[in-house]
Amino acid sequence: MTRRDEMLKEMGLTPVWRLRAREAATQTSGAAGRAAPPVVTPQPSAFQDDRRAAVMRMDWQALKEAVAQCFECPLHAKRNKTVFGVGDENADWMFIGEGPGADEDAQGDPFVGQAGKLLDNMLAAIQLKRGHNVYIANIVKCRPPGNRNPEAGEALKCEPYLQRQIELIRPRLIVALGRVAALNLLQRDATIASLRGRVLQYKGIPLIVTYHPAYLLRNLTDKAKAWEDLCFAVTTMQGLRVASDNR
Ligand code: URA
Repeated sequence: MTRRDEMLKEMGLTPVWRLRAREAATQTSGAAGRAAPPVVTPQPSAFQDDRRAAVMRMDWQALKEAVAQCFECPLHAKRNKTVFGVGDENADWMFIGEGPGADEDAQGDPFVGQAGKLLDNMLAAIQLKRGHNVYIANIVKCRPPGNRNPEAGEALKCEPYLQRQIELIRPRLIVALGRVAALNLLQRDATIASLRGRVLQYKGIPLIVTYHPAYLLRNLTDKAKAWEDLCFAVTTMQGLRVASDNR
């Protein structure tokens, strides 16, 4: 088996994964096939400015407590656990998904269900491991009921938390998993196809876009494109490291 074959096997590309019907029905969020998520540009208001400023001053401990006790949007009402994020707080790599599904809501960690298994395989395919130089978070920290897309107002209330996480980690590269993550981070509407294969920016941090693992579980043929995106991410990271070494 060639090295490439081994990597594709790690990603579940050979043999191809198939979701059973029940799993597909209860699959976590993140389908590129769903309606476009609304994107709302943050509107200034004195109260929200104060809240944002307070969040931007938080250290990790304060931020974790703030998320655990957050009642800012209606998602708090039905959550079991908030899902803060997990991994290396000094990571070079940050992977950002959409929002917790049922498994994540029960366990309090991101990407622990079927989509999470595929994400772990995707990481392994490029020699990465959850928690080792990798941080994983979501656009929203509480589960949208029925695994619907987060609404614009929900994403907006949660956005300072993610922004502060990114500021504290200062990753070299962000990988947006799926359209909801990409559009919320980039604050503009676009198709996944138009965003893939490019180095974009989130507040000065390089960002690339790939498919959401839950989408890939349903759209097996796009796994090959996700593999291309991962290879692109690796070469982008290599370039970023060389550029910072030469500085
Ligand atoms: N889908 C996401 O976008 N995030 C998770 O944590 C789990 C599934």
